[in-house]
Amino acid sequence: MIAPKTLKLSIKSLRDFAKKRLPEETLLELDERDECPLDIVRHMCHPDQLGIQLLFIPEDCGGFGGGAFDVYCICEEMARIDLGIATAVLATFLGSDPITVGATPEQKKYWLTRIAQEGLLFAYAATEPEAGSDLGALRTTADRVMQDGRVVGYKITGNKQWISNGGVADAYSVLANAPGGPCWFVVEKGAKGFNHDEPENKHGIRLSNTAALSFDNVYVGADRLLGGVEGQGLIQAQLVFGYTRLMVAAFGLGAGWSAVDRAIPYSTKRIQAGAPLSEKQGYTHKLIVPHVAHLEAARAYIEEAAERIDAGEGSLNTEGAIAKYMATEAGNSAAEASIQAFGGYGYTREYMVEKIKRDVRITTIYEGTSEIMEMTISRDRWQLHLKTRGQYYDEQAKKSEALHANHPEVGADVAALALHALAEVMEKARLARLTRYQHILLRLGELIAYAECAGSLSRRAALMADNKLNEKSNRRFDAAALAALARVFAREAALKVAEEGLRWIAGAGGVGAAAVSAFETSLGLPAIHRAQVGLIADMDYVADVLYGRLSKAQRAA
Ligand SMILES: Cc1cc2nc3c(=O)[nH]c(=O)nc-3n(C[C@H](O)[C@H](O)[C@H](O)COP(=O)(O)OP(=O)(O)OC[C@H]3O[C@@H](n4cnc5c(N)ncnc54)[C@H](O)[C@@H]3O)c2cc1C
Repeated sequence: MIAPKTLKLSIKSLRDFAKKRLPEETLLELDERDECPLDIVRHMCHPDQLGIQLLFIPEDCGGFGGGAFDVYCICEEMARIDLGIATAVLATFLGSDPITVGATPEQKKYWLTRIAQEGLLFAYAATEPEAGSDLGALRTTADRVMQDGRVVGYKITGNKQWISNGGVADAYSVLANAPGGPCWFVVEKGAKGFNHDEPENKHGIRLSNTAALSFDNVYVGADRLLGGVEGQGLIQAQLVFGYTRLMVAAFGLGAGWSAVDRAIPYSTKRIQAGAPLSEKQGYTHKLIVPHVAHLEAARAYIEEAAERIDAGEGSLNTEGAIAKYMATEAGNSAAEASIQAFGGYGYTREYMVEKIKRDVRITTIYEGTSEIMEMTISRDRWQLHLKTRGQYYDEQAKKSEALHANHPEVGADVAALALHALAEVMEKARLARLTRYQHILLRLGELIAYAECAGSLSRRAALMADNKLNEKSNRRFDAAALAALARVFAREAALKVAEEGLRWIAGAGGVGAAAVSAFETSLGLPAIHRAQVGLIADMDYVADVLYGRLSKAQRAA
């Protein structure tokens, strides 16, 4: 973990660098030209210059040994600048992950030290034309090369698709099927038989180089098999998903906020019907406030997951999936709403929100699509529901009620309603064996993510009130604003879990028409409806905070 002061300094250097080298006009021009600014990416990754990569390299390999929380903070900041450039930097993070989790100590020292000292750019080559979400279908092969009865190397043959940094990396972590099963190999640029295509002409992140790779009997020595044992590749990939998905979650968060932070000042200057748009409730309460609530709910979840990973609780794949799902969907919606907030201007290429919207779209696709996240979340929490005989979310609801007793202002009572409703929905799904419908399984994933994030945001608001928030945590909102955001989000989450839960359970035949009203009661729908009282006042308060309209006295009150 790096010291809060060092992290602050790194973020400041990044901001200063972006101000100088990546003003908006430059970003828009590069986007128009569909050009990856390789000099900038190399500058960001070089140890004598910005040295972003040093953050995640362990200290014994010449880095700063940053943890998940540090990486989240830096990723959010990079995404605020440009998601294409952030992706180029991320590719080295991702490419080095199979090394971090799976390599032998010698391999780790060799590659990670080179990344730290030489600013080596990596690419992470897993996806293939026929193997995207289902990596098990990979076709790239690694045939053993034998000498005197022992394996001295491998010949890699196959194709990879949509690889970030594909045309510009110095080294590639490549997933291929050896006789003993899938493995990660490191292939260096210029290897005989290795080629990359021209960069893809993409919808967004046009500052990032994305290319297809081809391998035609590319020879690598046996020391390039990460970990030295065949068949570990998919396990190694799984081991880092919690962590890598947090990075992409931070991308969604940073890009979403970057869009909202443009819409807010714009709306104070744009006069329509005699007053600035920022004074129109129908504008702020649709296009700004709900998106801020979603982004901050996702942030709360990201921060909790990052703290737990840093505390050594393991790879937390499901938490990584929830964080990625909520933050990238929130970032995507926030950017979409920001285009609407700018009206016709938002639809033109001159305005950054148009670019941000195209850029952020990728975050719900790469590192696992939103649908794969829903499946991951649902499958894992379903097991918890079964193992605890339906008690898991009721226990979470009780914890939220206990928090409410100490902090009645943070919406924890309403988060408890969401968690309780979720327990009821899952139990009904179990009784009627509804997870045989894939759609129900995936919708459960969404409801789980909302309910868990409602719990997280209310906990974060309480920590803020108690002055116990992580020192590195984002402090944009004070305790009162965070509590209002938590109440706004909890109301939405509770209503969504109960109403959509009812919809899907009834829709799949889990309750008949005669049993619907009893199910409504067991879901706590009347209480959830009552909890909506005060919603508009809370949204007004959040809007006033966002637009700096509160006096000192009002803030103190
Ligand atoms: C710009 C860009 C950069 C990328 N960078 C990298 C990189 O650096 N390294 C790398 O290895 N890969 C990279 N990728 C690949 C990316 O990770 C994959 O595109 C992604 O995992 C989805 O795979 P796919 O495109 O084959 O879609 P598919 O898996 O074919 O999915 C298509 C659709 O079907 C849905 N779907 C898939 N399976 C199921 C299912 N079982 N049930 C229900 N729905 C399902 C998906 O959610 C999606 O909506 C990148 C992609 C892009 C576009």
